[in-house]
Amino acid sequence: MKTKDQLRSAISTMDRRSYKSYKELEGEWLFGDYTFVIDHAQGDPFAQPSRVRARLPGAYVGLDPETYRSPSRARGTESFLARAFADVARRESKRRGTGHSGEIRIVCPGQEVLPQTALMLSDSGDLEVRFTVGLPARGRRIVAKEALELLLEDVPAVIELSLRAAVHSADHLLEAARLNEDADHLREQLTDLGLVAFVADGASLPRASGDSDRPLRSGEVVPFESPPALRVELEAPNAGSVRGMGVPEGVTLIVGGGFHGKSTLLQALQWGVYNHRVGDGRECVVSDPGTVKIRAEDGRSVCGVDISPFIGDLPLGKPTRDFSTPNASGSTSQAAAIMEAVEVGARVLLIDEDTAATNFMIRDRRMQELVPKDREPITPFVDRVRHLYEQHGVSTILVIGGSGDYLDVADTVIAMDEYRPRHVTAKAMSIAQDLRTGRIAEVPEHFGRPTPRLPDPGSIDSRQGRWKAGIKVRDRGTMHFGKQTIDLSAVEQLVSVAQTRTVAAALLFARDRFMDGKRPVAAVLDEVEAAISAGGLDVLDDRLVGHFAGFRRFELAAALNRLRSLRVSAEAPQQGRPAPASMGA
Ligand code: ADP
Ligand code: MG
Repeated sequence: MKTKDQLRSAISTMDRRSYKSYKELEGEWLFGDYTFVIDHAQGDPFAQPSRVRARLPGAYVGLDPETYRSPSRARGTESFLARAFADVARRESKRRGTGHSGEIRIVCPGQEVLPQTALMLSDSGDLEVRFTVGLPARGRRIVAKEALELLLEDVPAVIELSLRAAVHSADHLLEAARLNEDADHLREQLTDLGLVAFVADGASLPRASGDSDRPLRSGEVVPFESPPALRVELEAPNAGSVRGMGVPEGVTLIVGGGFHGKSTLLQALQWGVYNHRVGDGRECVVSDPGTVKIRAEDGRSVCGVDISPFIGDLPLGKPTRDFSTPNASGSTSQAAAIMEAVEVGARVLLIDEDTAATNFMIRDRRMQELVPKDREPITPFVDRVRHLYEQHGVSTILVIGGSGDYLDVADTVIAMDEYRPRHVTAKAMSIAQDLRTGRIAEVPEHFGRPTPRLPDPGSIDSRQGRWKAGIKVRDRGTMHFGKQTIDLSAVEQLVSVAQTRTVAAALLFARDRFMDGKRPVAAVLDEVEAAISAGGLDVLDDRLVGHFAGFRRFELAAALNRLRSLRVSAEAPQQGRPAPASMGA
């Protein structure tokens, strides 16, 4: 392997040469204690900065083995160190010419702690960090002096000041590791206890603003306090016993006046599928990993989804067992979202009245009278929510401030009152007894399981000009996929650009490896998950990129389902079984 001194002389000879000469630096360089790798030198100072890595031996990093003893601890530590690298890089890097010259950047984790490729620890405490540097230029010519300073001074300084255990408080490092392990353990206990979510006492749920997931300043926050009737104690390996509110499986309503914290609680649950960093306020708020937020999303495309449990014959005889549209309505989009989630294994659905289609949610007695059932294709969710639980084991948590019709179908009712939850199930039941709504239940039959859909790989075209994989992701909610744009802004459980980018790569990977027109969507997702758990996120891209983050099957399915060119066929019904296969209780 070439040495740091050889890198120094190589750069020195390049002064004022054309920018393309930087390509000669690609390869591995021994920097004394660690290896520095230039994987890809950018072709232009304004292009995407160059991709580089450093491989640091455990002895150089010097972490306490307690900080990476379990995978769960290692994730917490990685996230902590990646954030430290990002902070120091921002501080230490200087502008060194045109374009991105001089920049040192890493994909910085947000509030969530996710597996990521920007920084990874091995079982023995070795560390690999992947980041980008803007190789310096004036105009389009190499500036050797600046390049020398960037690669031989700035980069080593950032590494030295952020990735060596000794620069951090040992307590802080260990806290990040232990906390992440605790959160995983809390989540793992839910199912055995018959719970779908847990919110620890003392948690701070509100966020700084509608477009920031940082905590609201602590002075203004009412800390979470569990109502005695729903109080449970869970065991965490490091923190010991943690007290808080357990949300039981079944149908749960969150009621209460406007602005009393209903949506904030539901959002905490939707993001409780992920762990959070120290100081977030939601460190011990966890929900079932199969929790999926459902909302209306008019305008989206839907492909071959059986929405018949919710929507019967549409005007002009449009079939709903195999429903496709380039432009769904509020109610059909919400019905499709539920069926798509159930298709790939959702166990808990979250619905907030703020983002739901009213006609999908309720149809009261008077409306039943005015518009007879045979003129109304929609079976409202209130008539289906119990079937989902009783026939499919899928629980639902709903925020409902506006319709008491749901009291008849709830197992648990939580009222938010000035940001404090109260258990009002008994009162709600007695009201439901005393004030009958007069509604007529509208559902005749079983809630069948939809026929599995088999995606056609030919319909997933990522070509863009000369690029075979023309995928581009610049923000969390938008994926440019070939000539199409997939709008993911309503997929609320996608939490970062890195996640969206990873989902894009996974979509290509799934198409190339596993979609053959015979595998159902759920089986394709199983394969993707198995491949990633065996080989890590790097299976998605052999260039060893640093911009991937862990994601769930539900968000990959969401991207697939929103691809406007998608085509699916229905699985052929098995012999002797009626189609579509019905999965009764
Ligand atoms: P709802 O859905 O009941 O109308 P929201 O959940 O939207 O209410 O909350 C209303 C406002 O109160 C939001 O600005 C939110 O950030 C804030 N908020 C929510 N929970 C708390 C809390 N525990 N302490 C302080 N403010 C809160
Ligand atoms: Mg609300």
